[in-house]
Amino acid sequence: MPQGIGRTASEKAHFMAIALLGFQTTIAAPLSITGIGVHSGRPVTINLQPAEAGTGIVFVRMHEDGSSTEFKAVSSQVGNTDLCTVLGFTPARSIATIEHVMAAVYALGLDNLVIEVDGAEMPIMDGSSEAFIDAIEQVGITNLGVKRRYIRVTKPVRIEAGASWAEFRPYDGTRFEVEIDFETPLIGRQSWAGDLTAESFKTELSRARTFGFMRDVERLWAAGFALGSSLENSVVISDDHTVINVEGLRYEKDEFVRHKTLDAVGDLALAGAQFIGCYRSYRGGHKLNANALKALLENRDAYEVVEAPARSLKARAREFVAVNVPEFAPWSA
Ligand SMILES: [Zn+2]
Repeated sequence: MPQGIGRTASEKAHFMAIALLGFQTTIAAPLSITGIGVHSGRPVTINLQPAEAGTGIVFVRMHEDGSSTEFKAVSSQVGNTDLCTVLGFTPARSIATIEHVMAAVYALGLDNLVIEVDGAEMPIMDGSSEAFIDAIEQVGITNLGVKRRYIRVTKPVRIEAGASWAEFRPYDGTRFEVEIDFETPLIGRQSWAGDLTAESFKTELSRARTFGFMRDVERLWAAGFALGSSLENSVVISDDHTVINVEGLRYEKDEFVRHKTLDAVGDLALAGAQFIGCYRSYRGGHKLNANALKALLENRDAYEVVEAPARSLKARAREFVAVNVPEFAPWSA
């Protein structure tokens, strides 16, 4: 059946997803998003520009004096991971809270993009990835006709940190299995497991918001952090284990683990390429995600670089062929 004839919108989206598999992409037109920074509380605008094949995802911080600092969105550029994921190593020249944008970019299969920002952090929007997904889908995605390379996990890699652990395992697709365990009975033990596609991300993860505890928010405010944090961009949990936001939770009770999974998608996007494998974590966060990714990339025996086979761009992940590219190091600057 020719593309676009007699198909429902979701069939068309699925067809497009398959048709694009194997080729690098960028956005079809520039776009801008304005919001506030969750840490500074100040307005911030990002401009997303299309980029040619091989560019990768590049963040550019525009400084007030007219200079700029540029970062490839790759593991080796990750600095602080205490409150969010930061690119860069000095506060005056870094970019914070990139994970929700990166999750949207990764899930929609965008390989090449320049993201300019006129401040020190990404806009927080509603605390989820929804605004970024909507904005990108409004301009659309362009197929650049150049093959995309993937990182395929070939051996398990595991790290542990106290009661937390994370691991990569070989898998014929891209899968996340994330479990959290909080003392508050409002959250308790929750898990999300599923294959990651643009559709599954949009319907099951993209709207899950950042969450925090009222006592922590007050402490952060007193220390001059999280000045933009509010009920408009966070789910806030009170000392008596209830959700303060009047609108309640999205996704029933497990918005919490869905947001942790969204964060993991954004943090693993810093592999610098789409990955084929399963990522599992228990009681994880940005630091664990960053360290797990570093452990995988430092273990050259545990992954290979692959691309779609020559004659089929709709191949299963296991049919992808290894390419010998010694210079291929998407995670380096
Ligand atoms: Zn988050």
